[in-house]
Formats: sequence, C-alpha cells, structure tokens
Amino acid sequence: LTQTLLALQLRRASDVSYGKFHAKNLKFVPTPSPKPIPEDISGLAIGSIETDHMLQIDYTNGEWQAPVIRPVEPLTIHPLAKVLHYCPTIFEGLKAFRGVDNKIRMFRPEMNMARLRRSARRAALPDFCPLQLEQMIKDLVRIEQAWVPKGEGNSLYIRPNLFGTDASLGVARPLEAKLVVTCSPFGPIYGSGWNPIKLFANPKHIRAAPGGVGSFKMGCNYAPTVAITDKAAAYTAQCLWLSGEQQWITEAGAFNLFLYWKNTKGELELITPPTTDGLILPGITRDSILTLVKEWGEFKITERYPTMKEVKEAVAEGRVIEFFGVGTAVVVVPVSQIVYQEKAGESSVVIDFPEPTDTMPLSKRVHETITGIQ
Ligand code: PLP
Repeated sequence: LTQTLLALQLRRASDVSYGKFHAKNLKFVPTPSPKPIPEDISGLAIGSIETDHMLQIDYTNGEWQAPVIRPVEPLTIHPLAKVLHYCPTIFEGLKAFRGVDNKIRMFRPEMNMARLRRSARRAALPDFCPLQLEQMIKDLVRIEQAWVPKGEGNSLYIRPNLFGTDASLGVARPLEAKLVVTCSPFGPIYGSGWNPIKLFANPKHIRAAPGGVGSFKMGCNYAPTVAITDKAAAYTAQCLWLSGEQQWITEAGAFNLFLYWKNTKGELELITPPTTDGLILPGITRDSILTLVKEWGEFKITERYPTMKEVKEAVAEGRVIEFFGVGTAVVVVPVSQIVYQEKAGESSVVIDFPEPTDTMPLSKRVHETITGIQ
C-alpha cells in the first residue's frame, strides 16, 4: 500500500509544473579549492564536516529558480527572515553507501522525498517535484562520490533542508524559500560495536501531542527536545517520549521503537507504535523493518503503543525478549535500560532489559539484513 500511494503521489507530482525546479536546469559551479577527504571517519559526529558542494534551489516571487550545485558557503539571510522567527524549516536525512562492488547506492530515497514533500505542505513551504529533487540529489552525490566512504557502517549522510526566508514579520506562508542539500561522511553513530543505549522517561516531558506536528520532520519538533535530552544525558541516556494518561511509549531520541516480547497470551509478538495518530515520525527504517518481518512471517506483528505499565510488568515477569530503536542514523540499536521518573518529585525506577540469550537476537538479525541490503 505504501508503495502504491508513493507511486501515485510521484505520478501526480510529475504531471504538475514546478517552474525551473528540474534537473535539466542544473548548473554546476565547482569549488576552486577542494578540501582533503578524511581517510578515517570513525568518531566523526553527524554533519560535523561537509563535502565540497551543495545543491541550492531558491524560491523567489512565488517560483522555483534554476537549481545550482556550488561550493558550500554560508548563506546570507535577512534578520527578518521568517525561519529565524517562526521556524518554517523542514529537513530530511538519508544515506548513500559504497557497496562491496564499489557502486554507490542511496537507500529508499523516494521515501525521504515523499516525506519532505508532506512536511513542506504542513509547514506551508513551497511544493516541489520529488522525482526531480531525487534526481538532483543523485547528481550531487555523483559529484561528491569520492567522499562516499568505504567500510561497513560508513556512509555519506545527505541532509535536504527547506526553509522560508522572506523578510517580513507576518505569520504567513513564506513567499521566499531556500532548499539546500549538503552531504557529510558519517560512521556508525554508536561506534563499531553492538552498543546498547539507555533511555530516560518522564511523562511530564512530551515530544508531540494529538493534532500536533509530531509526525512531520520540522525543525520546531527538535529544538524543544534539547534541554530534556540534557536531563537524560545525566543518566547517559536518550529521551523516551511518553504520551497521554496511559503513558504510551511513542518513540525515543530521533528513532522509532520496537518491543519484542511474549504477550500475556503467551504469543511471540513484535509491537511498534502506529503512524496513524500523528504522534511519531513515520520512519523509513521502521517501514523497512515492518516489511521485512512481515515477509519472514515468524511471529505476530502489532502496530500499537505499549504502555510503561505493560513494559514494567512484562520485564518483571521475564516476558520481554528485546526492546530496540531504529532510524537512519542508528540503523538498529538495542535498549538496555529505562530510567523511569513516574511522578514528579519521586525518585526514578530503573527497568533493566535482559541481555538477549539467542546468538542472533531479532535486533541483530534485522540490523544485518538492513545493512546487508544497504
Ligand atoms: N523519529 C524521529 C523523531 C526522527 O527524527 C527520526 C529520524 O529521522 C526517526 C524517528 C527515524 O526515521 P528514519 O528511519 O526515517 O530515519
């Protein structure tokens, strides 16, 4: 169904005119001073160094202007630019990989293009042709191909970003915008080993609310999480985002979650929160994993929110097999512990997840299958 909807959306996109927003108009201005490409990228934080060129497409006077791939440079922005005040900014994150055959491939870029377009609509930013953007990003990656690192777990992280720039203080649809795509070499986020993470949950702090914009990749969803993430860092943990009176488990940090357990009926079941309520980002890794495990057909798969109470009880009864996070940056990361502050002022409870006993736990199998495809 996802694929059919995507195909329809793309077909519809190709019927509409988007001015000069077309790969055939792409100009290339090479940098006069290419930077040295680092040989060892282990330990580089995400987006800490960028490649030589970026793709830039400006939207002015209600029209997309000709796209250009040019040297990465600071942008000039008016102090009244809407993005600096009201945050009309959206982004995506996808990766290109160098295969063992030395070919470079991007992982499901059409999904990122569709999600960016969905975010653009919600943020009242200009619509664009997803097929053409994908094409132009491929052109950028082709130009920057020497930057796509070799080695398992390494990739070129691609960051499209669209934001409103017109200099006027009205809270209104931006009439000017910029779409910029940069690339950065990137290694495995939690190092080369299989390193579990901890999560910190306090129902007082929420990330998204029903009817809000939690399911869109908008900058405004991320800035408010930083101060809470600092609190979580005191426990060397990432934030686990709960929602509502039931304390639904929604997602964590910047990744989606899967719980693999024996349910109260004794069935093996994989649970992941649903994308239907707008509370979580509809992750592309999540979608890929759901597709895989449905093909495997080895256990029950349910899209619903597990509650904190259920998880606490299931851990106490030894029914939880694994709890893991999934996303483009982390791919798959096991969770070892939740530090849970159930009520304000109360001390925290620690919920420890068992070390998987199987030599090939589900999280690892999923990780190897996804990275194998990549
Ligand atoms: N949830 C949030 C809030 C995110 O920022 C991300 C990262 O993009 C994800 C989940 C995982 O999504 P994806 O698998 O598309 O990277």
